[in-house]
Amino acid sequence: MTAPLLDIRGLTKSFAGHPVLADIDLQVQPGSMTAVVGASGCGKTTLLRLIAGFETPDAGTVAIAGRQVASPTTSVAPHRRGVGYVAQDGALFPHLTVGQNIAYGLRGDRASVRRRVDELLETVSLDPSYASRRPHQLSGGQQQRVALARALARQPVLMLLDEPFTALDTGLRAATRKAVAATLAETGVTTLLVTHDQEEALSIADQVAVMRDGHFTQVGSPQEVYRHPTDRFTAEFLGDCIAVPCVVTGGVADSVLGRVPVRANDGPGTLILRPEQLVATVVSDSGQLDGVGTVLAVEFLGHDVLLTVDPAGEGAPVVVRQHSLSPPPIDAKVRLQVIGDGVVLT
Ligand code: ADP
Ligand code: MG
Repeated sequence: MTAPLLDIRGLTKSFAGHPVLADIDLQVQPGSMTAVVGASGCGKTTLLRLIAGFETPDAGTVAIAGRQVASPTTSVAPHRRGVGYVAQDGALFPHLTVGQNIAYGLRGDRASVRRRVDELLETVSLDPSYASRRPHQLSGGQQQRVALARALARQPVLMLLDEPFTALDTGLRAATRKAVAATLAETGVTTLLVTHDQEEALSIADQVAVMRDGHFTQVGSPQEVYRHPTDRFTAEFLGDCIAVPCVVTGGVADSVLGRVPVRANDGPGTLILRPEQLVATVVSDSGQLDGVGTVLAVEFLGHDVLLTVDPAGEGAPVVVRQHSLSPPPIDAKVRLQVIGDGVVLT
């Protein structure tokens, strides 16, 4: 493993005696993207402001590219940290053109600044002709990309993005997210993005850090934190969960849903699965009814349907997510099958 580009150790911050960040550890590898995901008010912006240098930690350290930039007693000025920061409102200067916004902070003669602005516009997939426009003449997604270009202008080694896509509506959001992720990957700049949107974090990042009340509950790859959450909060925060009591013996969890492979020690616990891991197959009344459940409700969501199934009369109903083509009707008898492995929490 190479040395991390961003290395945060024991970072702690209170405002007026109210703890906001507690003992945060985070390493971000060069050229990668980490998403910090958490509910509103959990401390995400505060974390970015500490890294950028707009706040000083009460305890702990921040190192960027091997150089310590923050501790309770030492602080490197924000503009000397090699950090690009796109704040939550992403605000462009409304009275300046797009070109002037991007050129803000660039040095050199007019021609070289002009050339660099064109390059940066191209980098964020905007035509150079946009340089003469004012921010209000751009769509939300285009404004986001100009804000990114402005932050890239100083060639930061670390880019900090605070909920960059929140203001955009669904379609534009997915497209802008892809464009920005591609740009950042191309420029090779290490990125830390914060968001309250789980799907965004899971889809865009190489590493996801789940934040709750100023601490990380789990840090790992998107697949790891989604498929193998280490606690109930993380499991439920990242998506819908099925939770049923189980008993583990030799790496197999026995529950009302049958036998499911798990990585867990022997004993009782709670089996956690994602709704898409369950498949409900309709059975005819004539067969044997062992392990057969009843559909209690069908919720149409467009491309998916959620089936609420009473599993064989035992335990609480479970919710199955499947494609919405010809779902079983209410009261249908279904057999539930589990795909993949589960997680056991005790
Ligand atoms: P998030 O970005 O996750 O929504 P913030 O980091 O903005 O969360 O805020 C976390 C908590 O810290 C909130 O309770 C907020 O009110 C508080 N807070 C943030 N900045 C300050 C400040 N400068 N002074 C006092 N309290 C603050
Ligand atoms: Mg915030």
